[in-house]
Amino acid sequence: MTTAEEFEGPTTELLQTLIRNECVNDGTGDTGGETRNSDTLVAYLDGPGVDIETFTPRDGRDSMIARIAGSDPDAPSLCLMGHTDVVPVNANGWSNDPFGGEIIRSAEGVDEVWGRGAIDMLNLTSSMAVAFRALANSGFTPKGDLIYFGVADEEAGGTWGAEWIAEHHWDAMKADYVLTELGGWSHEGPDGDRHVTINVAEKGIAWRSLRVKGTPGHGSMPFGADNALIKAAEIVRRLSEYRPAPNLDEVWGAQVASMKLSDEQRDGLMDPAAIWSTLEGMPVPQARTCHACTHTTFSPNVAHGGQKTNIVPDTIDIEVDIRTVPGTTKDDVIGHLREALGDLFDHVDVSELQNSNPTASPFGPSNPLWESVKTHTQVAYPGAKLVPGLIVGGTDARFYRERGTTAYGAGLFSKSMDFATFGSRFHGNNERIDIESLGLSAQYFHGIATDMLS
Ligand SMILES: [Zn+2]
Repeated sequence: MTTAEEFEGPTTELLQTLIRNECVNDGTGDTGGETRNSDTLVAYLDGPGVDIETFTPRDGRDSMIARIAGSDPDAPSLCLMGHTDVVPVNANGWSNDPFGGEIIRSAEGVDEVWGRGAIDMLNLTSSMAVAFRALANSGFTPKGDLIYFGVADEEAGGTWGAEWIAEHHWDAMKADYVLTELGGWSHEGPDGDRHVTINVAEKGIAWRSLRVKGTPGHGSMPFGADNALIKAAEIVRRLSEYRPAPNLDEVWGAQVASMKLSDEQRDGLMDPAAIWSTLEGMPVPQARTCHACTHTTFSPNVAHGGQKTNIVPDTIDIEVDIRTVPGTTKDDVIGHLREALGDLFDHVDVSELQNSNPTASPFGPSNPLWESVKTHTQVAYPGAKLVPGLIVGGTDARFYRERGTTAYGAGLFSKSMDFATFGSRFHGNNERIDIESLGLSAQYFHGIATDMLS
């Protein structure tokens, strides 16, 4: 198998099985059931020349690793990593069975596989497996190890997946180069060429709880009361108005260069003094993405507190989803909160709910993975340009980058899959992928693995 069309059939079939296995992870420890997808992948990938390991950090939550051992222990290794879990659905919002894995022809005449995970990311998990299987079938003898990692629990932060395996079995998963989600959508750039996004970095996660303190009293006499809820309201207001300095780095510059914008918008998005007014002049969905890519963000999303209607509360807890731009440390997060809250900072206790630092991998002509990704993007789209990007959420790539591995969020989709289409189906209703994209991605991973390991 070498052409994208030849990869379509087997990738579609495997994707249908993975969707139907319904490995729904709602964030609690006993959901997921990824052992079903792990078993499917083990059965699909096992065979002569392939070593398989499975991991069970918790019942029902298996991950698996398949390996074609390299002939040269010093040669660099490549890992294709796909998560096997999916997020829950609200079936009422779907026009077809979210776990049916059906092939349905769209109004435009495009055949699509429907189901939760078709975009995030069972499409790539199956494309990677089909590429790996095709290489094993052809008797491929890599110089460095080729690794396939089907990993559980990505959707809940990797506690029972990549984080656990990295901590307990790093030697099994370690690799010099890694490809995983998210990337591969494309658009026509201002120069008329196809521009394909490859994510080379992701923001940090700094979820914090702010405990706001006050003094209890009788609700019938509020004058001059030290009411924690009133202070909390002001804290939430200050957080929503806080404007940290933007981070306008090389990755952002490449993103801006690739967007169709007026000259004024282009300049404004690269100017710390003008970026806010420029964002305000753009359509909200686009501005929201541009804002998140350039700023450490603060979203107060949960509040708890108060005891009884007639008691002035002495404690309110606010949970803030903070996402940090590259280069931000834990101390910087405290610095931001101090600046945002001003005099009220001394009225809160800050505690950590979750923390992972922002991560980034090198990219550009001196990086072999970047060059290989470019070459194999151009197999499908001659003359296409790669645009490095920053993921504003979190993926399992961070567990590799933290340990020095070059990891990209990559893939390759049909022209119909632009960022807006991809984004609207991601964790959304009516999630589906066109079969052409499945073939393109499988061919792409097959090509890159051949190239990097020969
Ligand atoms: Zn995902």
